[in-house]
This record gives sequence, structure tokens and C-alpha cells, in this order.
Amino acid sequence: MTECLSRYEALLAEIKTLSLKEKKGLLEKTIKLQEEVGELAEAVLIHKKTSGSQYKALKSLSIEKEAVDILLVTLDIFFSLSPDLDLLEDLLSKKSRKWKKHQTK
Ligand SMILES: [Mg+2]
Repeated sequence: MTECLSRYEALLAEIKTLSLKEKKGLLEKTIKLQEEVGELAEAVLIHKKTSGSQYKALKSLSIEKEAVDILLVTLDIFFSLSPDLDLLEDLLSKKSRKWKKHQTK
């Protein structure tokens, strides 16, 4: 478990470093996030074979890849405002507890 945690910590630190070097501003990053959300929506529509999307081919792991794109851009937005891994952990923990609380109602 400790090894697993340190792998995620190292990965988050690397993502933070990339984010701090990123030249895009908050507005561009937010628009990029919307683009990635659109790509995820398209992948889900294809996966669910919704009307008008049957002719499109779903590439392997498309939904997973688009979800990760969203995670990366979201982390980039977070780090560009608060490059504090402890704050990220604290907020993730609080939001997860809040989510858990809603599920147990
Ligand atoms: Mg994408």
C-alpha cells in the first residue's frame, strides 16, 4: 500500500511540475477542459450506440482515455492556482467524505 501511495504521489508531483511549466492560462485551460468533456461525451455516445453515432467506431479504452484527459486538465487548473499537494489531498478527502455521506442516505 505504501509503495502504491508513493507511486501516486510521484505521479502527482510530475503532473504538478508539468502544470507549472504549462504556458496556457486559466481561460485556455478551462476551454480545453470543455473540449475534453465533449470528447468524453462523444465516446460515451458511441459506446452506448445512441442514435446518430452507430456509424462511428469506438477505439479501445476511449472512455477511459478521455476521462484521464479530463483528470489531467483538471489537475492542471488546480495546480495553476494552488500548487499545493496537501491542499489537493485535503480537498479530495473532504469531497470524498461528502460523496460517501450522500450515498449512505
Ligand atoms: Mg481527449
